[in-house]
Parts: sequence; C-alpha cells; structure tokens
Amino acid sequence: MRLTLKVTLAFLVVCVTVLAVTARLRVERERDHFEEQRDRSHRVLGALVAATIAEVWARRGVDAARDVLRHVQTTDTAVQLRLVCADSDVAALPAGLTCAGLRSLRRRAVRSVIERDAPREAAHLTYIAVPVDESRTEVLEIRESLEGEQRFVAGSIRDSATSAALVVCVCGLASFLLGLVIVGVPARKVIAKAQRVGLGDLSGPLALRLHDELGDLARAMDAMCDQLAAARDRAEHETRAKLRAYEQLRHAERLTTVGKMASGLAHEIGTPLNVIEARASTIADGTVQGDRARASAKAVVEAVERITGVVRALLDFSRRKGEGAAPVAVRSLVEGTLAFLRPMATRRGVALEAHLGDAPGRLLGDALQLGQAVTNLVMNALQASPQGATVSVSVATVDATPPEGVTAAGPFVRISVADRGPGIAPEDRERVFEPFFTTKDVGEGTGLGLSVAWGIAAEHGGWACFEDRPGGGTVFQLYVPALAKEEATA
Ligand code: ADP
Repeated sequence: MRLTLKVTLAFLVVCVTVLAVTARLRVERERDHFEEQRDRSHRVLGALVAATIAEVWARRGVDAARDVLRHVQTTDTAVQLRLVCADSDVAALPAGLTCAGLRSLRRRAVRSVIERDAPREAAHLTYIAVPVDESRTEVLEIRESLEGEQRFVAGSIRDSATSAALVVCVCGLASFLLGLVIVGVPARKVIAKAQRVGLGDLSGPLALRLHDELGDLARAMDAMCDQLAAARDRAEHETRAKLRAYEQLRHAERLTTVGKMASGLAHEIGTPLNVIEARASTIADGTVQGDRARASAKAVVEAVERITGVVRALLDFSRRKGEGAAPVAVRSLVEGTLAFLRPMATRRGVALEAHLGDAPGRLLGDALQLGQAVTNLVMNALQASPQGATVSVSVATVDATPPEGVTAAGPFVRISVADRGPGIAPEDRERVFEPFFTTKDVGEGTGLGLSVAWGIAAEHGGWACFEDRPGGGTVFQLYVPALAKEEATA
C-alpha cells in the first residue's frame, strides 16, 4: 500500500513536471507567433502610412499629413498611430529611445520595441522613418496594446492547468489502482507468507504467476520453504534416531543396574533365607522343641523382617513416585524429618541440629520423596557418627554449577547433612551411590539409601553429592532447583 502510494506520487510529480514544461513551451511559442504576426502587420501598415504621409506632407503640408493620420487612426482603435517627434508628447517614448535616435533611422528603416514592464500598459511599438523632405525625417509610431495577447496566454495557461489537473486525477487514480493490483496484492501475499514462515508454518506455497521481481521473490520464498521443510524433516529424523539410541543406552544401563541389584539382592535375601530354612526345618522335623523352638521361630521372624526391610527399600527405589510436584515448605519438611529421627539419634547418643536461617520459604517438589531422601542422608550420618557427636542439617539457596547431565539452571536449594564420622574411604568414593553398595554389616544396611536419595534429587531436576568435612567427617548434599524469589517467599 505504501509502496503503491509512493510510486503513484512519483508518477504524478513526473506527469505534472512534463505537463508544466510543455505548457510553458507552448505558451512561449504562441507568444512568439503573435509577435511575429503583429510585427509583420505593423511593418505593412507602417510602410503604407509612412509613404502616404510623406507624399501628403510634401504636397500639402504638415496639417494635411496629420489629417491623413487621424483618418487612418479612426479605422482601427486597437492600433494607435502618431508622429512622435513632430508632436509635443515626445516624453512618452519608451526608455532608451530618443527623438534624435529615432530620427537617425535611415530611410525606410523600422525599429520595434515591446514594453512589458507595466502589464496594463504593455504594448508593441513600431517606429518607422518618414522622410518628409530632403532635410527632415519624421518618425511614425505604431502602438498596439498586448491585452489581446495577454488574454490569449492566460486562457492558454488556464487550459493547460485544467488538462494537467485532469491528467493528475485520472492518471493518479489509474496508477493507484494498478499499483494495488500489480504490487499491493502480491506484496501482501508475500508478507503474509513471510509471517507464516516466521511462526514455523512452511505449508501453502505462494505460487504467484507473475513474471516480475515480485514473482521471482515469491518463487525464491517457495524454494526456501521447501529447503527448510526438507532440513526440518532431516533434523526430526535425526532427533528420532538419537532418541532411539538414547533409549537403547538407557535400556542397557537399566540392565546393568538390574544385574547389580540382582547380585545385591541375592546376597541380602540369601542369608536370611538360609536362616529361615535352617531354623524352620529344625522346628518342622522336631529337632528343637520348647524354648529352643521358640528361639528358632524368633530367628525366623527376624530374618523375615530383614527380607521385608530389603523389599520395602527396593520398592522405594523402583517406585519413586510420591504425590507429584507441589510447593513444599522447606522448613517444616526438614524439621518434620528430624523430629521423626530424633529418637534414633538419642538412642545412639548423637545430637541432631538444624540450621534453617538461610532456608527459602518454599521449593517445588514432592514432599514425601524429599522427606525420604533427607531421612536416608540423616540416618547414614547418625550411623556414621560416634557417640557424643553432632549431626547438623542446613538449608540454603546457592548458585552451584550442576554436574554433567543436569540441565536445570541455578539457583538451587541445597540441603546439607554434615557429620563427624570416619568419612568415606577413597576406594568407596566412586561407588557409594550405586544400588546395593554398602560397607555396613549384614542387617545394618541395604545399600539403597544413597541411590534412592540420588534418584529423588535427579527426578527433581537436581543431583546429590558429598564432600569431606574440614576437621573430619562427611557432608552429603542434595541440590534441587529453587523457585523464583517471589514464589519461594510467597
Ligand atoms: P547403606 O546405608 O544401607 O549402606 P547407602 O546407600 O545409604 O546404603 O550407603 C552406601 C554406603 O555409603 C554406606 O554403606 C557407607 O559405606 C557409605 N556412607 C553413606 N553415608 C555415609 C556417611 N555419612 N559417612 C560415611 N560413609 C557413608
């Protein structure tokens, strides 16, 4: 639309300029033609009147010559004749002309002057020498007003202006409509297509059947869309292939984990099962009776409880699904977990402290799962701590660099559990998060606590890690993505 307007305006400016120049040339040509005609008629009239006056003046005197002049004058009022230098009104001569100068006109000589200074008195003046006798030359002035010529020129200019206005209106409208059809409509289609491409819609080729630059542009856009669509298909195909490969890798990893779990499980469940088998068979075949049978039955119950514990931990590991993500009040999560573990701490003679001064108000997560992860870390810390030591739990929002594989961006809520235990041996550092890895005695640990905690952190988009504590002991940390400040404090 704007382009059409611009082209129309430029076209009109050119039209008006051309019309103005041709009108001016025509007016000048007409004016020249007028002058030429007038000059010719002045010369003819002047020659006739001058000859007659010279004749009459020579034969019958100056008064008779003047009578002839008056007589000629009455026949045409548009043309005025007078003998300038014989008359008294010499002062009415045009600027630059003097009586002496006019008298010096040679025989039959003619001089023309056009006065345009005052538009109302503009006139064409012709001076012709009239040799009245041997010693004297009079000068005949023929004066014709330019009023007629001026009227004609004004009319001509009016006509030109009217036709220019007509041309401007008709051509302007025509070029505007043509511009709309030839430029506006296809350009709008190209713009709409570009906007669709910007939004990712590559369908619907333009297919403009134009053989101009806009047609070329539309064809180039269609070709570009085809290439983009092909590239997108290729990229999607490659992504699907990558996802398939990734799935296969995960499947292989899962198989490895299952293998590790199976061997751990065999070890964890095998021992109590042996106990059950041995004790139950002594009860069944009557080898033991009375108190010994009761002791054997108690051993069977304990072994079953161990197996139940392992199975529960396994279920936790495999079914890491809680209530789903929701805002979790961090302070009450940690305090609730510690309250639940305090009796165990007291039994072991270990103090349990919470430092929640820097804790954010809320984080987004599954309260049940996070409580489980914190429980596992604190239980490990309590088990590792000597009597009289303190286990401290602290929470803060930090900007940490996530390990490879974690895509979430900071800041993160960090839950730290610090103890004064013996630390982790260098040979175990790589394996502590493996399922079923444990250094604890049979019956004390399942080797699933840390792997469950790690899995929960990973499911929240975070991770778990540990470091040696200065002065002895270990600090286990859980990192979970933090909420934006205003949401966290809401
Ligand atoms: P479990 O506690 O049943 O052994 P975990 O997965 O929780 O299983 O822990 C694996 C191992 O990591 C533990 O056996 C122990 O060797 C080591 N570990 C975990 N927490 C601590 C800790 N706070 N201090 C020292 N070692 C630890």
